[in-house]
Amino acid sequence: MFRRVFLVLVIASLVSSIPSCSRLDPLEETTWEAIGTWPSGLRKCLAVENGRWSWRWMGDGESGGTAQLIVADRSYHWRLDREPPPGTVRLVPVGSRWLSVAASDATSLATTPPLPRLKCDSEAYSDLVALLRALITPRFAGRVVHWPERPVPVRAPAASSGGLDLAACLREAVSIWNQDSPIFVWDDSATWGVRLAHYAGSTRSPTMQFQITRVDQAGRPLTARIAVGDDYDSDERRYAVRAMSHELAHAALLWGHSPDREHLLWGAAPPLRADPSDDERRAADLLHALPEGLDLNRYGRTNDPAR
Ligand SMILES: [Zn+2]
Repeated sequence: MFRRVFLVLVIASLVSSIPSCSRLDPLEETTWEAIGTWPSGLRKCLAVENGRWSWRWMGDGESGGTAQLIVADRSYHWRLDREPPPGTVRLVPVGSRWLSVAASDATSLATTPPLPRLKCDSEAYSDLVALLRALITPRFAGRVVHWPERPVPVRAPAASSGGLDLAACLREAVSIWNQDSPIFVWDDSATWGVRLAHYAGSTRSPTMQFQITRVDQAGRPLTARIAVGDDYDSDERRYAVRAMSHELAHAALLWGHSPDREHLLWGAAPPLRADPSDDERRAADLLHALPEGLDLNRYGRTNDPAR
């Protein structure tokens, strides 16, 4: 899974194996290295290229020094100029390509993938990881949580509100979310995933709500429902589809709400759109690609002193 290397490494032999190494003059030698393997699909999602970047590291107290990040095919290398002392290690990039990151100790750097600063269209967030962190904080405290599998099954009984076919509205919302990649799958026989729960004859506030109803021992959702009453009429189909698409954003485990009215997850009023924004689609894909349990609070919290 990962290795720690305490040997002095001659970089020259590595330079020839790395296609893009012009960003940094190679160090003469290195005394400490943590090597991790990219989780499946994450590199592609992040659009990270092979290369080498200059960083600085800081430990507890006065300790610190220079560092490099090397991305080479399936691995990422955190290479420090010496072994850090026990305790928290913070890595700060030189330049704006990457987000700073903190690890509880040096060894855990091998399971700490570097995350680039990804663009976010919304001005409410500094970057995509900041958006994702904000959306998964209300329920998951900023930690990456997944469903057991993807796509997540969605099903609905025959349900109608004021003549409006609620199941058909949910099917339409599923299709909207699946436009680029299959996040959800309609499956009437599924024993896990999301189901529509129609409370016939009642009105509800809010009119629609996503609720996780069962989790496994690791806290991953197993079953959830979209609760809806009889608040919609047959001429309100588009509002029902928007609301269901909004609830499916929560079903994609983007739990929080956004202050950006362009977002499907805008929280101040009913959504103004039925399709997720590009930010929200990319956040859902990033969440899926990140390793389960990764704490996004560790990223992007340190200003870059070199900028
Ligand atoms: Zn909501």
